[in-house]
Amino acid sequence: MTDQSTRDYDAIVIGAGFSGLAMLHHLREIGLRTLVVDGEDGIGGTWWVNRYPGVRTDSEYSYYSFSFSKEVRDEWTWTERYPSGDEVLSYLNFVADRLDLRKDIRLNARVDSAVYDEAANTWTVNLADGTHLTTKYLVSGMGVLSQAVYPDIPGIETFRGEKYHTAQWPRAGVDLAGKRVGLIGLGASGIQIVPVIASEVGEFFVFQRTPNFVVETNNDKVAEEDMAWLRANYDAVYEKAANHPFGVAMEPAEHSALEVSEEERRRIFEGKWNEGGFHFANECFTDLATNHEASELASEFIRSKIHEIVKDPEKAELLSPRTYSFNGKRVPTGHGYYNAFNHEHVHLIDTATTPITRISEKGIVVGDTEHELDVIIFATGFDAMTGTLTNIDIVGRGGRTLREKWAAEGLKSNLGINANGFPNFFMSLGPQTPYSNLIVPIQLGAQWLQRALKWAEENDIPYFEATPESEEWWRAETERTGRLTVMYTEGKKAKAWFLGENIPGKPEEFQVYMGGGQVYQQHCRDLEESGYAALLYRQPATVQA
Ligand code: NAP
Repeated sequence: MTDQSTRDYDAIVIGAGFSGLAMLHHLREIGLRTLVVDGEDGIGGTWWVNRYPGVRTDSEYSYYSFSFSKEVRDEWTWTERYPSGDEVLSYLNFVADRLDLRKDIRLNARVDSAVYDEAANTWTVNLADGTHLTTKYLVSGMGVLSQAVYPDIPGIETFRGEKYHTAQWPRAGVDLAGKRVGLIGLGASGIQIVPVIASEVGEFFVFQRTPNFVVETNNDKVAEEDMAWLRANYDAVYEKAANHPFGVAMEPAEHSALEVSEEERRRIFEGKWNEGGFHFANECFTDLATNHEASELASEFIRSKIHEIVKDPEKAELLSPRTYSFNGKRVPTGHGYYNAFNHEHVHLIDTATTPITRISEKGIVVGDTEHELDVIIFATGFDAMTGTLTNIDIVGRGGRTLREKWAAEGLKSNLGINANGFPNFFMSLGPQTPYSNLIVPIQLGAQWLQRALKWAEENDIPYFEATPESEEWWRAETERTGRLTVMYTEGKKAKAWFLGENIPGKPEEFQVYMGGGQVYQQHCRDLEESGYAALLYRQPATVQA
């Protein structure tokens, strides 16, 4: 029923990363004339802009990839268990070529605003170059950790040396050889960059406000037989990830950390620590994310590891988080992180006890001490989940933006898929979608929307829109389930992005759904099986088809 004569496209997707590529493929499959627009000059989304040294996945290759295309599965070969950023970017380019997606992707097409016209039931997407494109369906694939933020440190603009944000790293790279380099920010990004540039720079000043619990990955090459096994078992691996609360293809743990002996606990922690990465967080015990005492036991184990690895006991203690426990921040993975602090030219500056007072022309001032630098790297994170959506004007019914809606009503969505007041606007990985390896909700979300829009087209449904009731329910459910986890108590202490705590003035609300990816998917299936009737408007007043 889409009226092809009056609109430029049936669907416009903003963003050419994992989300945009998956959406384009799935929406084209149901015959929708779909265009992807992206402000960058290459596809890849987060993997296009995050080119800082050391960038790589935190999830393993086997489930950090799409399972929907047999061609891609059979023909792509991963080389590392935790693939580098370059390798993921090559993968996404391979996907774009193999699925012939490029012809429907427009790069260098930055969206300024998108405005819904109620009478015409049409979205107009306004690009920075003055182009206006009309569409029936508008889909955000703008990414969840894409709106980079600089810290609000006085004098930041006065620094005369070079300044870089990890999420806006120059394409040509940065020559750090022999230079005095300062780093602010030790989340997943800062933790990846530390060991890689430590061997390159002259003097390295790492400014740490809050230490993190870093689990080493013990990265490895992917053998030919591993790829052969994966190709034969892709569906099973994907299903395992889809059924896991955090979207990883891992075994469920069997015991509470509190019900085994101290010796047994140490043995289990040690085994999973050696296996590396998210295995530690997910496979040791059932309650590291839900029980404070259990999370504290994991914290104590990691602190003991830090003291084993870092030779200087003072540095080791500074690197050991004491103000919150494990899972209070999104668990970062390391590639020689703690070891890097054994280099004499790597200086750890504690800015929790004596804060950074300002940035000067010459460097970073901590208390009264000026650290002179040639380069400052900011790995200071993102306005997560909502930042990209509120940074541009997405204007719904009655001229109201998403930014205004969420500021007035609090963060609200129906399953993170859509929002009341914004007909035919959909989000891949919208706020309140699962805290998870993101490839799972991206793929399942694109497949869900494919079925929903096919159904809408076949049944002459002019638009989908979240009901106010569905939003109230999902907001309450997101808060309720989030508060059952240690992410709530510990995340508050640790100023975690998943609670919005990292952005001054941002309200404390769960930005993601902590109730489990598999539970979330069941809610999506329920909505579909109800004929979309339970939650979404489908009998509008008179609107044009
Ligand atoms: P982040 O986790 O939000 O960390 C930001 C860091 O900047 C924190 O250490 C924070 O210190 C520091 N900071 C911010 N403002 C500051 C200020 N005014 N003064 C001093 N320090 C300041 O950001 P991120 O490391 O970019 O990671 C964000 C998320 O992106 C991750 O959790 C992960 O989900 C994703 N990510 C994934 C990968 C991957 O999968 N490979 C890689 C990178 C990022 P405090 O802790 O003291 O606030």
